[in-house]
Amino acid sequence: MSQTHPVKAYIGIGSNLADPVQQVTDVLPSLDKINQTRLLQHSVYYKSEAISDIPQEDYINAVACLETTLQPFDLLLELQAIEHAFYRQRDNELKWAPRTMDLDIILYGQHHQNDSHLTIPHPQMMNRLFVLQPLKDIAGSIYIPTLGSLDYLIEVAPPLRIKKLDN
Ligand code: ATP
Ligand code: CA
Ligand code: CA
Repeated sequence: MSQTHPVKAYIGIGSNLADPVQQVTDVLPSLDKINQTRLLQHSVYYKSEAISDIPQEDYINAVACLETTLQPFDLLLELQAIEHAFYRQRDNELKWAPRTMDLDIILYGQHHQNDSHLTIPHPQMMNRLFVLQPLKDIAGSIYIPTLGSLDYLIEVAPPLRIKKLDN
């Protein structure tokens, strides 16, 4: 299903396995190739500590801005197909396990929804500087539906070891 007006969707990208910088670099053209979608922009990369009970390598994170006429759930299916193509292993026993590729829908225009398959804005974005900071870099001081201003969210986000990479 599609809609007539293109919407800007922001995608959180994360990887901490098998050369994460390369994984993030390689996924960008895949995002651009999604049906009815093009890649408008992406942030620089950030390196951040993993938030998990499982000891694991730091993550490489970035945020991409897509223009799409896909509905949110169809976009999610496309993102999951790309994760699969990047050899993402899903272990349902392990939450926040290391992974080659994680693609989350952070924002979809000003749309908000909360159901069993999909929550937009992403329900953890306010707790994650590795999402908020790259989002700010490419989107500026935007308003996040249901949550408030991005600047405010950055101000009150829990501390996290995060470093901008010069790529
Ligand atoms: P987190 O959601 O805390 O970042 P995760 O990315 O490790 O954790 P996954 O195993 O990748 O979690 O995804 C679990 C499920 O989350 C997906 O199957 C999907 O249905 C659901 N989900 C809900 N909202 C979103 C969203 N905004 N973006 C991506 N997946 C979402
Ligand atoms: Ca995630
Ligand atoms: Ca995910």
